[in-house]
Amino acid sequence: MTALRTGVRYLYVPFMMFGLIGAGYFVVAKGHSYLWLAVILLTAIMTAFAAEKVSPWHAEWNESHGDEAANVWHWLVYEMSAIHGVVLIPTITWLFPFQGLWPTQLPLLAQFLIAFFIADFAFSMLHYLSHRWPLLWRLHAVHHGVGRLYGFNGVVRHPLHQSVDMIVGTMPLVILGMPVEIAVLLGLAISITLIVQHSNVSYELGPLKPYLAIGEVHHLHHVNWGAEGDCNFGLLFTHWDRLLGTYQPEPPRRIRPHDMGVDEVPHFPKTFMEQLIFPFVYQPGKGEPERYRAGGKGHPGDATDASGIHPAE
Ligand SMILES: [Zn+2]
Repeated sequence: MTALRTGVRYLYVPFMMFGLIGAGYFVVAKGHSYLWLAVILLTAIMTAFAAEKVSPWHAEWNESHGDEAANVWHWLVYEMSAIHGVVLIPTITWLFPFQGLWPTQLPLLAQFLIAFFIADFAFSMLHYLSHRWPLLWRLHAVHHGVGRLYGFNGVVRHPLHQSVDMIVGTMPLVILGMPVEIAVLLGLAISITLIVQHSNVSYELGPLKPYLAIGEVHHLHHVNWGAEGDCNFGLLFTHWDRLLGTYQPEPPRRIRPHDMGVDEVPHFPKTFMEQLIFPFVYQPGKGEPERYRAGGKGHPGDATDASGIHPAE
């Protein structure tokens, strides 16, 4: 078991980020059916679940939190809307006459790396703004309502927030003429990055640790310690956080398994439908909405920030 755990600690991230995204690159570059990408994505999620059993960060995060059904719905809706986004690409490129700006003369790998780098910037900035603007925070809070981190939680997003992410984060690339195959590969790479970023796997990043926004730096982003989690907004890289001054390499104190969540909403809704409704009943800074207070008890005086800027995360 020790050898297996050591293997997972060192090989999980390279396998996911280079092995599986590399396999996706092979599928696209060789013109194979995109259905293979679904197989790769399933392999990614199954690998994450298996690695979580062998080398968990917190054993408690492997226990059910009553969130599986909602998370499967989130996963299906997330991937379906990603597919819709890709299907829309030919229409968008037809509508916008800027296709010549995308460097289609470069090798496929270079185009993919450029797309990923720009998307990493766009998603990181959108994420930062999602913690600054109350309207976006209402939607993004659904992602932060999770009581644990595990393989599925990367795609727990309100569909409206995902639409904002896709329109603002990737549509500029499409308008510039990003080809469908790069968009498909980018979608796969972002999905796998989100799985790695949120999975409950204790892994080694070696000398790359300061440059990657995965692992414990992202756990710190999910803590329910008021403003202390207002850091580490990066998708994969930490350099945008360094520029923003929001990079926090170490937690100020040990992160415990039950420290995840939104501090002013301790009874965060568990069902998919309630999570869809959540942004419309939640008022940042006004404490937990009445409908979530367990048995009428709860935290009616929890308004910790009257400014309207969310006080959590
Ligand atoms: Zn966040």
